[in-house]
Amino acid sequence: MARFIFITGGVVSSLGKGLSSAALGALLQARGFKVRLRKLDPYLNVDPGTMSPYQHGEVYVTDDGAETDLDLGHYERFTGVSCRQSDNVTAGRIYSTVIARERRGDYLGGTVQVIPHVTDAIKEFITADLSDEDFVLVEIGGTIGDIEGLPFVEAIRQLGNETGRHNSLFIHVTLVPYISAAGELKTKPTQHSVKELLGLGIQPDIVLCRSEREIPREARQKLALFCNVHPDRVIQARDVDTIYDVPIAYHNQGLDEQVLKHFGLHPGREAEVELNRWNDIVDTIRSPEGEVTIAVVGKYTNLLDAYKSLNEALTHGGIANKVRVNLNWLESEIFEGENAAHHLESCDGILVPGGFGERGSRGKINAARFARERKVPYFGICFGMQMAVIEAARNLAGIAKAGSTEFGPCDEPVVGLLTEWARGNVVERRRSDDDLGGTMRLGAYACRLTPGTKVAEIYSNKSEISERHRHRYEVNINYRRQLEAAGMTFSGMSPDGQLPEIVELQDHPWFVGVQFHPELKSKPFDPHPMFTSFIKAAVDQSRLV
Ligand code: GLN
Repeated sequence: MARFIFITGGVVSSLGKGLSSAALGALLQARGFKVRLRKLDPYLNVDPGTMSPYQHGEVYVTDDGAETDLDLGHYERFTGVSCRQSDNVTAGRIYSTVIARERRGDYLGGTVQVIPHVTDAIKEFITADLSDEDFVLVEIGGTIGDIEGLPFVEAIRQLGNETGRHNSLFIHVTLVPYISAAGELKTKPTQHSVKELLGLGIQPDIVLCRSEREIPREARQKLALFCNVHPDRVIQARDVDTIYDVPIAYHNQGLDEQVLKHFGLHPGREAEVELNRWNDIVDTIRSPEGEVTIAVVGKYTNLLDAYKSLNEALTHGGIANKVRVNLNWLESEIFEGENAAHHLESCDGILVPGGFGERGSRGKINAARFARERKVPYFGICFGMQMAVIEAARNLAGIAKAGSTEFGPCDEPVVGLLTEWARGNVVERRRSDDDLGGTMRLGAYACRLTPGTKVAEIYSNKSEISERHRHRYEVNINYRRQLEAAGMTFSGMSPDGQLPEIVELQDHPWFVGVQFHPELKSKPFDPHPMFTSFIKAAVDQSRLV
């Protein structure tokens, strides 16, 4: 039976619980165990798909088409285990399941209550869709003390009790702040937070203390005393310069060892061997052989969480090329004015990421034009591909009124809403007045590559690939002939030949647009070939100037 590790957070939000969970997953994997990571989100949205990136950051899409929390991206990047719909649930989804059951009459006349009905539904979720995992790591979103998190905390308390002390473990991640006026690290917030957790019936087995500075032994002993844990299980988690150092840092503090001891397992030697993967990554990041600058022209550029996976995938492309990738985040609206080109002049590559809505789209089109005309490497992802196609249609193919129906009715819908498409042998449908939640083309779809194209070469001459999607609009196949005649090749298509998946420019060193999100599948130990190739093109570009 799988063992459960529950990870809660205290004191403040943004402690990096997701990263901590992912790093522990990686360490257990390095010890030869099979892991699965899950996230429980206490908010009432059914999924984060309808939330603004300003509220929530990136929406991470899984192969099976779930729109999930960005922490699942960390889980995949650190463990390589593909997440599924069953790895992320929100209070909204739990409540809608319970209410649907009530409407069907499944509760046989009973009064439906948070305990046991909601907590049962949460426990069902945590224990469902597992096979032979050794460890299931379950992260609880939010901070202990939040009202909306209470049913989740109660559910894991019950589950801990039901599975027994040696089959479940509670880790509480807290903050030990440094007060510069006193010149001291403070343990009191952690003590209070653990008290709060105890008040909810949970005694943490390990307290993981985030801190800017080294936590002295006495402070750890004090924490152990007040939190009722062994001093070896008060683990310090100091800030690190790269997130890929977190597994190593935790291992050095004995986190994985303490976890295994709790479960009565004997820490083996494998971890030493497997940690090489992380050491190599960190060494490459810390001592690059060169650097490139990529301009990312987007809409949410002041909120890096909105482009979490993209940020990481670019770093991975840098690891593959042994260079540091400096990112110059640019708000696309600045390219709508005159003389904005100078912002792009010093960069070695331009990337326009995914996005929604008309605001800022003109600036993205202008950035694509700059890249095309100046022969600067250009990578357009999803919306970034659509804007590049509109630019090429207008300025290369002479279709002056080319546009996207996303911005309203349009004479030349080079990008348009698609209401029917195939997934394998199944036809999926949507209507223009559908609900906005969960109705996009979501998840993994196959794409056939045209032999002899740059992209086919990037993907090692594979004939078919699979990548993740999240969009409502598509490049309109009816414009293919005109665009190809003007020099924009459709180098990847859906297997039925109806949906353009990839375009590339002929007369250009590196200009590629993809309808999917390759950043979602990139790993530090397995950088995505598109990012490896884009960064390589940027390295070549940097040598030109
Ligand atoms: N807004 C575009 C669409 O829905 C692109 C979406 C995206 O970039 N993820 O098709």
